[in-house]
Amino acid sequence: MGEFIHRNGAEYRVWSTVTDSYVTTAGNREEMAEYLLEEAIAEAKKDIVERLARADANGTSGMFGKRDATKWDVERCDVCGWLHDPPACEVKEPK
Ligand SMILES: [Zn+2]
Repeated sequence: MGEFIHRNGAEYRVWSTVTDSYVTTAGNREEMAEYLLEEAIAEAKKDIVERLARADANGTSGMFGKRDATKWDVERCDVCGWLHDPPACEVKEPK
């Protein structure tokens, strides 16, 4: 990811291999944990916005392709294991 946690005694900082410099000030372990959590939450929020935008545009959050956004996909049948609309299974016994 290009960022590493460095420790000096009881203090921690984040080093960036992109800028070859520290991107945080020094803090204790608890402060570093809080910083890392906030960074992870910010990254997750950004990811969620992007995934929902792709689902809005393409019917799926997948990076490639589109799907019909007016219905759900057909799921695998619990009885026969094939893909078909329920309850149209013609297999009477589970395999
Ligand atoms: Zn079936």
